[in-house]
Amino acid sequence: MQTSFTPAQLADPHVAEAESILRKCVHCGFCTATCPTYVTLGNELDSPRGRIYLIKDMLENGRAADAGIVTHVDRCLSCLACMTTCPSGVHYMHLVDHARAHIEKTYTRPLPDRLVRAALAAILPHPARFRVALALARLGRPFARLFDAVPPLRPLAAMLRLASASVPAASPVSRPATHEAQGPRRGRVAILTGCAQSVLEPGINEATIALLTRLGVEVVVPQGEGCCGALVHHMGREDDALAAARRNVDAWMRTMEEGGLDAVIVTASGCGTTIKDYGFMLRLDPAYAEKAARVSALARDVTEYLATLDLPEPAVRPGLTVAYHSACSLQHGQRVTRQPKDLLARAGFTVREPAEAHLCCGSAGTYNILQPGIATTLRDRKVANIEALGADVVAAGNIGCITQIASGCGLPVVHTVRLLDWAYGGQRPPGLPGPAA
Ligand code: SF4
Ligand code: SF4
Repeated sequence: MQTSFTPAQLADPHVAEAESILRKCVHCGFCTATCPTYVTLGNELDSPRGRIYLIKDMLENGRAADAGIVTHVDRCLSCLACMTTCPSGVHYMHLVDHARAHIEKTYTRPLPDRLVRAALAAILPHPARFRVALALARLGRPFARLFDAVPPLRPLAAMLRLASASVPAASPVSRPATHEAQGPRRGRVAILTGCAQSVLEPGINEATIALLTRLGVEVVVPQGEGCCGALVHHMGREDDALAAARRNVDAWMRTMEEGGLDAVIVTASGCGTTIKDYGFMLRLDPAYAEKAARVSALARDVTEYLATLDLPEPAVRPGLTVAYHSACSLQHGQRVTRQPKDLLARAGFTVREPAEAHLCCGSAGTYNILQPGIATTLRDRKVANIEALGADVVAAGNIGCITQIASGCGLPVVHTVRLLDWAYGGQRPPGLPGPAA
């Protein structure tokens, strides 16, 4: 794609990066076929190619964002299916991240939108606040239908509906500690305890730590780590996202210096995609660029790391059929596709994949709150494809997908690592069909 940025514009490294991405796009439109919003809405401006044109026009003309472009960029799930499809290697993720930051700086959203976004940014990354908010949301659930009737308040209705009926007790594994390997140590890793996941389903990291330590890996929950910053990053709040990234880089570098690290294990793939991008996000910060690149190089989805270990024979033969939902952040963001399915099959599960596996379930961080209409359409499409498989359980590697799919699906939805932990001698995940073992 030809561009006409001025030398003065290109002196800004963010603009220069956007320009180099734009130049790679050859307008072929292959990406439209796999874009969930184009497939759902049928509008070119809600396709990757359409958004690329809008972003180019806004940046080239040095314009502030307007309501039109904000509408179409906000509808993008950042699912990155377009990046998997694109034959020209267009790095849409970095382009849309820059566009979101530009929107945040140059556009004043309507007040209700601002309030909802400010609340999400202030609550979700902080487990203690999120826990209180979930308790309040349970009380507010009866009002969801009222909020539905007022369009600007629909995100509140979506939030109330997504709030789980009960919140698990805080888990001790979220606290800084070193979990020693059982038997001879064959590895040392740090684990991201994260924010929303540690509140909604602490059993995921409990299972991860139990499984890894049984397999001989020491697992460190470092002092000082916190939310990866993905939630605010996707809202264009760059300063908040970079502050979160720097804090985690510091925490993991300290852990690395104390005793070496083979990997930073991430069990929420949405977070994994962002941590693997820390090196890019902090590339212009001389104090952090190198450290962030080292951390990104160490980041591994838990299934990616498990696939490198020499696993024993499973302790139980589960005999269950699993519908494997490949989270967008895992399949498109990190290109981790084979490992979760191979691990499940090796552990004795029959693995099936739904039709349209490339399409997003509509979760996408805070998307199912901010864009509840499209998110629900995508969820229902995903659930119909999953339920057609006749599986016993759904497995996914991202808490957002688990919550989203579970909100519309009759099957239990669990994290992949919980099934693996069970198969290799850990606890059976709650809610599975068949006798509790
Ligand atoms: S990230 Fe997903 S929703 Fe956004 S343009 Fe690409 S394919 Fe479409
Ligand atoms: S597939 Fe790639 S090159 Fe083709 S229009 Fe989409 S982003 Fe541009």
